[in-house]
Amino acid sequence: MDAIAAGYAIDLHTHSLRSDGALTPEDLVRRAAGRGVRIQALSDHDTLAGVAAAVVTGNELGVRIIPATELNTESEWGDAHVLGYFIDPADAELEDRLRWLRENRGRRIELMVEKLNVLGYAVDLARVLDIAQGGALGRPHLAQALFEKGYVKSYDDAFSTLIAKDSPAYVQRVGLTPIEAVTLVREHGGVPSLAHPGTVVGLDELLPKLVAAGLAGIEAYYGEHTPEMTARCLDRARRLDLVPTGGSDFHGRGEHGTDLGGVFVPPETIERLESRRGRA
Ligand SMILES: [Zn+2]
Ligand SMILES: [Zn+2]
Repeated sequence: MDAIAAGYAIDLHTHSLRSDGALTPEDLVRRAAGRGVRIQALSDHDTLAGVAAAVVTGNELGVRIIPATELNTESEWGDAHVLGYFIDPADAELEDRLRWLRENRGRRIELMVEKLNVLGYAVDLARVLDIAQGGALGRPHLAQALFEKGYVKSYDDAFSTLIAKDSPAYVQRVGLTPIEAVTLVREHGGVPSLAHPGTVVGLDELLPKLVAAGLAGIEAYYGEHTPEMTARCLDRARRLDLVPTGGSDFHGRGEHGTDLGGVFVPPETIERLESRRGRA
């Protein structure tokens, strides 16, 4: 393996090809191991399909894999994404709910392709599906298709000009509210943490409602956070008895500014999260 610069030992937010990441679960764990990660949550959107493969590679390379998922919600609270840790990949009832969310993702991307086509961007749904390789469909796949066709200069450019909220080809997500996402994780024995709180509108109003629904953590450590934002999250964690969590949100396309293990997460975080299992 190529020498890769070392990162920190814990990364609680990563995405593979099973949702909108660029690497297979195996390659993702290999890369994480190469950067010195020893505990990694695989947190693909709306699916646990990559967990088994990640665990096999993790066992070979000494990386403990925590099964997780990230549930994206869009509402008057903006983008509130809920990470659910320690959920069971064999939970059939949960899988039913996740399948419903994935089907909604698929329909939304189809509608966005139609909008793009009407706007004169000849993006082909078949190509978008090809890029996703069977993973849970998301806007990053659409961004890649736009990039390949030369319509945008980068993934960020695709979002900011065409597919972000209030952009011409945007279609609102159909799915869970933030409170429903927290409740779903709790109902299935998981430990929910609010991802990258900076994307939430009205965080101080929403947080107590999520805590009442069983929220246990807040992603204080995140590549795009300023030191002030991290400090604000840590302050809220103290006041609301939340576990500060953190991760790279690595997708493999240079988004969110950090590589695997690129964000410091305190070692006691895992034990603290585990202590919140089964209790709201
Ligand atoms: Zn997210
Ligand atoms: Zn994410």
